[in-house]
Amino acid sequence: MNLNDSVTHIPSIGDLMAKRLSKLEISTIRDLLFHFPNRHEDLTTVSTIRELQPLQTTTLRVKINKIENVYTKYRKNFIKAQVEDDTGKITVIWYNQPYLTQNIKPEEIYYLSGKLGSFSNKPALISPKYEREKGEQIHTKRLVPIYPETYGVTSKWLREKIKFVLDHWIIFVPETLPDKLLVNNLPSLKNALLEIHFPTNFNRLQKAKERLAFEELFTLQLNILNQKQTWVQKRRSKPLVIDKKMLLEFIMQLPFKLTQAQKRSIDQITLDLIKDTAMNRLLQGDVGSGKTIVAAICTYLNFLNGYKTIFLAPTEILAFQHYQTIKNLFLKHKINVGLVTKSSKEIQADVLIGTHALLNVETQKLIPANLIIIDEQHKFGVEQRQKLLVDLNKLQNFTPHILSMTATPIPRTLALTFYGNLEISTIDELPAGRKKVKTFIVPKKKRNDAYKFIGKKVELGQQAFIICPLIELSETLATVKSAKDEYDKLSKETFPNLSLGLLHGRLKSKEKNQILEDLQNNKINILVATPIVEVGIDLPQATIILIETAERFGLAQLHQLRGRVGRSDLESFCLLFSENNRDVQRLKAMEKYDSGIKLAEIDLKLRGPGDLYGTLQHGQYEFKIADLNDFELVTKAKKAAEWFKSNEKGLRNFGKAIDYVHQRTNLVLPN
Ligand code: ADP
Ligand code: MG
Repeated sequence: MNLNDSVTHIPSIGDLMAKRLSKLEISTIRDLLFHFPNRHEDLTTVSTIRELQPLQTTTLRVKINKIENVYTKYRKNFIKAQVEDDTGKITVIWYNQPYLTQNIKPEEIYYLSGKLGSFSNKPALISPKYEREKGEQIHTKRLVPIYPETYGVTSKWLREKIKFVLDHWIIFVPETLPDKLLVNNLPSLKNALLEIHFPTNFNRLQKAKERLAFEELFTLQLNILNQKQTWVQKRRSKPLVIDKKMLLEFIMQLPFKLTQAQKRSIDQITLDLIKDTAMNRLLQGDVGSGKTIVAAICTYLNFLNGYKTIFLAPTEILAFQHYQTIKNLFLKHKINVGLVTKSSKEIQADVLIGTHALLNVETQKLIPANLIIIDEQHKFGVEQRQKLLVDLNKLQNFTPHILSMTATPIPRTLALTFYGNLEISTIDELPAGRKKVKTFIVPKKKRNDAYKFIGKKVELGQQAFIICPLIELSETLATVKSAKDEYDKLSKETFPNLSLGLLHGRLKSKEKNQILEDLQNNKINILVATPIVEVGIDLPQATIILIETAERFGLAQLHQLRGRVGRSDLESFCLLFSENNRDVQRLKAMEKYDSGIKLAEIDLKLRGPGDLYGTLQHGQYEFKIADLNDFELVTKAKKAAEWFKSNEKGLRNFGKAIDYVHQRTNLVLPN
């Protein structure tokens, strides 16, 4: 017997049931054991017929006196039974279960769990759960597991099968954690599996969950440590020599003073760059915190050492903007900057800035590359980056340093888990003089006031964004605003005397760049756009962002959008419109908080990591039971994995178990 055997090894599971189970991603006996209940129904309270109270769920132990199928004159039918215990008799009614006369045998002892109701004006038990008395009850008289179900697979059926597997095969389940890690009375894996399905009591159930969650997190942490180790072993880089004098001179000629946080990040990064292991660092900082300049400084240092830099941005707009910023910055240093997008292929340059198109450039033309910067890293696939790294490494025999950047701050637990293989620098301070963006949820009837307000600000030379979720109106999403329609309406009716621009993903690169330029020269007063402007666009004169159908966005994304304004010392505003009152509560968080990390944490709680971080979307690693908001347990698991790793040799006899752990994890972490 092997836990990897197909479920068809279990008696009375044939091809049909196996096929149905596959919908629940259950194919082996192990999968079935690890198919955990969503919850447990508490049917532990046992009472006698005399003690029955209305509306309370209780379990009775009764003898069935009589059971029959009753047909009414309206051709409906139901099952009626008379049952008794030492204290009395009662009627039991089941609706819609005509087969029960086959299942429930008179004269036998049964447990019935349900609520007291009435039938023909007399007390009766209505549609209770039933189970014949046997050694151990699994459907009644206990904490009864309720499972994720699918067509043709009920919780009741699952209970039977899982109980069978536990009874017969639990002895084959190997222990996966060393004793030393089972602190705080965490149960063994065997016990945890028994208790999570059929708990003795809530307390033991809790312990079982904790143990299983701990194991998931521990496994993940071990994986992270292994990845880090592999990185160090395989990823030799060319260490940079840092010319401190040149670095300082470069910083001195910037139009502003760096913030402390920017300086600290630069220190951390330069310490990485001088090592002969390639850097793998994530620079996180709220929108507008000034990550670009930090990246530019690294680019400069890399250039001074004679290497090329590859700078990736998720959208053409952003690539173009970075291209302009960095080109200007490097003009007097005689550094060539090239733009690589669908429509532009300036490949002969020291610094190559571009979109995904850069990933398709012949690798030969990119070398010698010793720094890859990835802006809004979560918008890039892990595999794509990995391929670029491997290709470069093959050609030039060393791995470039990697600096990933993100403005969607990573909640602490995610930093320790999914991003645990990265070093993290945080810019936790905005440049001086930035004001909080005043945020309001605007009621529909005040829409015209909002437009008037925008008009006034434009008179002062300021700019506004109007964001719509869709490009064009959609029939299925009739209440969701579209950029094209709003643009038409606003430019004709509301702001006939102002200059409006329209920006969305379906425009040609040339058109996008033209709009961006017009915005920068303040030739456009109001930009109507899709969330394509979410990342990066940097317009100091923009002071109002109005977001339509805001409930369609996650908080982290709204925060990103809001970050398009408030990028100078001008007072800025974010106006949220919502079509749906239900969601106003969630949007209120936007009024209340201006910290990206806080909003990201709320989003993580409400929507899980997938929505927040694109690359995690496709269930690369889904916890069955661990909760990513449990910082304490995540930290514990991390410590445990470190301990385990440093004692790995002494734990050699544990090899089998660890193989088994690894078998259950196949995750790809963001690099
Ligand atoms: P983000 O971190 O969102 O990418 P950017 O790098 O685009 O932010 O910076 C936002 C704006 O702040 C830019 O106009 C940039 O020139 C400016 N900036 C960056 N650092 C500072 C600073 N230390 N002081 C003042 N302005 C700064
Ligand atoms: Mg940026």
